[in-house]
Formats: sequence, structure tokens, C-alpha cells
Amino acid sequence: MNRYVKKRISAMEPYKVQDVDEGEIKLDAQENPYDIPGEIKDKIKERIYGIRMNRYPDPDNAALKRYIADYCGVSPENIVLGNGSDELIMLLLFSCGGEGKKAAAAEPTFSMYRILSELTGTVYKGIPHGEGFSLPDKDILSVSPDIVFMAYPNNPTGNCYSKEKINRILSSDSVLTVLDEAYYEFSGKSFISSVQERENLVVLRTFSKAFSLAGVRAGYLITNENLARELRKAQLPYNFSSVAQVVVEEVIKNRESILYTVNELVESRKKLYRELEGVSFIKPYNTEANFILMKIEKIRRVLDSLRKRNIKVRRFKSQSMRDKLRVTVGRPEENERFLKAVIESFSGYNVEVE
Ligand code: PMP
Repeated sequence: MNRYVKKRISAMEPYKVQDVDEGEIKLDAQENPYDIPGEIKDKIKERIYGIRMNRYPDPDNAALKRYIADYCGVSPENIVLGNGSDELIMLLLFSCGGEGKKAAAAEPTFSMYRILSELTGTVYKGIPHGEGFSLPDKDILSVSPDIVFMAYPNNPTGNCYSKEKINRILSSDSVLTVLDEAYYEFSGKSFISSVQERENLVVLRTFSKAFSLAGVRAGYLITNENLARELRKAQLPYNFSSVAQVVVEEVIKNRESILYTVNELVESRKKLYRELEGVSFIKPYNTEANFILMKIEKIRRVLDSLRKRNIKVRRFKSQSMRDKLRVTVGRPEENERFLKAVIESFSGYNVEVE
């Protein structure tokens, strides 16, 4: 509590990120386990050296937007850039949410939809998924939301909702529909081609996952020109630093040498999924992203085993998710160590059972 801070913010819990120790296996945050190649870092180094740091960056990010437009098959006028897609979720809620407005999402999903709704004074309705983590489209529409967030594929479940159900939400003109395609490069499925014909569609993307740039903080949204222009009005000038501009430009220009890891990660995901399917006390769920959600009998044993081996995964507090964990697909040797730790937790080998 602090007398100067709004009650709404004082009531919030701080966003907690697990500490990262040296030498641990980090499979908790859906990062790409491969850093960008040294040759690209060398090019970035050269370009950073040439930046006039005493000057403000290009406020329009014109060059970068052209590269992104080319990658997405849209025009630069359709793009809004942010410091990570988190910032764009905030921008959307700041501009289109707030007092008297309602946001909704199927749950479980990415927690920032709820957290940033609360932060901006937007009423948030979390609607439980249907069977097989399907989109409860009718239940979502029944709460009369102003904004609906859908992660496609969804985090943490990994599945893509059916296009028909998404289209049902989209066909409600009064609802601003945000499709968060943070994991697009892994699923290959997108709604970008519908952006021109729908005035209520926003597609969110990030450079933090397939593009290996989680540390740089860069994301973008794609929407119709009119909405993009309005949203830019609510951004701080120069929100995207000149250093971030050159890093993202070089990475998107040389994307083949980074995105080839996507195929490898998808193959590793399929392998890990098959192996998990063979473990009697685990049920992995279908996924089109770079992570796998699974249900585990006696999950405490598995979590203890992973903790002892310094393997970080994501666990959940809510009642319906307490028996589940989410693992990000890592390098082959990391996936093997994860699997071994899971299996050993049940054979009792090397593990103190509660
Ligand atoms: N959307 C989804 C669905 C995510 O899972 C995440 C990251 N976990 C983000 C957005 C945030 O990405 P960024 O690093 O661009 O803020």
C-alpha cells in the first residue's frame, strides 16, 4: 500500500518471474533455445557502432516497418511496433478498454490479458474453455465484451481454436478481436489475410519466440490502417529505441539463418510428445506451438525431481491446472534430460519420495 498509488494498482500482485541461475535448463518461458548466429551479431555490432546515440531514433521506424510489411504481406501503414507484444496489449487496453469497458478471454490463457485489463481499469471476464480446450465462443459473446483476446495457438494449452468459432466472434462488429499469434512461426496458421476486410481485427506478433529476440523486447501488431493510425496516437514518441531498430532489422533481413530452427524445434516437439505419450502417468495435450502442456499423476514428485536437477518448467496455481505443467521445447539434450527427470521421478531412482 502507498497513499499516492491508485487502489486498483496497490491491490495487484507484482508479476513474478522465476530467477534464472547459471547452468540451469530453462524450459519455462517459450524462448528459442538457440541464440542468433555470430555472423548476424557481428553485423549488428557494426550497425550499432554507426548509430548516433545522441540523436532520437526514427520515430516512424520506417525501414523496420518495410521489412515487417514484406515478411507479413501487408503495408507499413498496417503496422504498429511495441516494446514486446506485452506493450501492445497494454496499448490496446489503454486505447480501447478502461472504465466501463469489458475484456474477455477463454481460460487458461496468457495471464497478461487479465493483468493488463486490471491495470487499465477494464473489467475482465475469464471464461472456461470447452471440451478439449475449445473456444467457448457463445459464452464469450454472452458477456457482451468490448475486447476479446485469443492466443492462436493458445498459451499454455498449445492448441489453435477452430476457425469457425473465431469467425463467429469476429463477425460481431462491436467486439474488437485480438488474435495473438506469438507462436505463429510454429503453427503456420494466421488471420493476417483477414485484416483488410475486418475493421475489428488485430493480429499480434512478437520477435521473442521463433526469432530468438526475447531479450530485445520487440513486437508488432497488424490491423487496418485506420485503427493502426488511432492506436499510434496513444503511443509514447520514440518508444522503439534505435538499438532495437537495427537489431530487429538485421534479424528479419537474415531470417532464414534463424527461422530454420523452427523446423528443428517442431520435430523435437513431435519426438518429445511421442515419448511423453508412452509414459503411463502422463497425458500430453496436442500442441501447435513450441511447448507442451501435460497432465501428470502425482505431479509433486515430478516437480521435485525437476527442481533437484535444476530444470525450470512452468507450473500453475489454479485448481484446474494444478495437476499440469508446461514445458518449452529446448535443445535435444535438454529435452532428453527433462524426460529422464520425469521418468526417474516415478521409478524412485535418485529421488526422495514424499
Ligand atoms: N502473447 C503470448 C500468447 C505469449 O505467450 C507471450 C509470452 N509468453 C507474449 C504474448 C509476450 O511476448 P513479448 O515477449 O513480445 O512481450
